[in-house]
Amino acid sequence: MDNQLVESIINEVVKRVQDETCFEIEASGKHVHLSRETIDALFGTGYQLTKAKDLSQPGQYACKERVTLIGPKGSLHNVVVLGPERKESQVEVSLTDSVVLGIPAPVRESGKLEGTPGIVVASGSNMIRLERGLIAAQRHIHVKAEDAEKYNVKNGEIVQVKVYGKRPLIFDDVLVRVSPNYETYMHIDYDEANACGFTKGTKGKILK
Ligand SMILES: [Zn+2]
Repeated sequence: MDNQLVESIINEVVKRVQDETCFEIEASGKHVHLSRETIDALFGTGYQLTKAKDLSQPGQYACKERVTLIGPKGSLHNVVVLGPERKESQVEVSLTDSVVLGIPAPVRESGKLEGTPGIVVASGSNMIRLERGLIAAQRHIHVKAEDAEKYNVKNGEIVQVKVYGKRPLIFDDVLVRVSPNYETYMHIDYDEANACGFTKGTKGKILK
């Protein structure tokens, strides 16, 4: 490669890294959020989840506890529990995971559980059947309120995001969620992460 070409590539890379309107992307593996009732059933009455690691969103953390998801076609083991506990249990899987389980997971925003399928969750010999709560999370961007102007977005907006992974890809139907309690990160699942060649530090940009 001639020097000029190398230089122009470096300049382009630097430009992208410094682009203020880029944000970092995180890939979420399958996980569960549990209600008090579900925690009692799986781990014992009054059991307190054990924090293992803080997540990027303030107040959210991964726990030491793991559960098994059981569907009519197969099971998924070693599924991480995220804290803190929630009003209602929610099981988030990729569409590939949902094929393994044999239960079609609807693509939903977190917390929008009306009409979603149920699933059996187990810990050791303890087991509970959730009546609803299985979803594939809709890809989304958590935007810190003070960043909303910079990215020119409003809460609830649907946008397209170009992801600069090893196989760059434009994702459509990305939900924007704005809150003063957020740090700005985009969240995708492992199917989406693999589709765009995601590695830690991969960035994205809203197309408008
Ligand atoms: Zn998220």
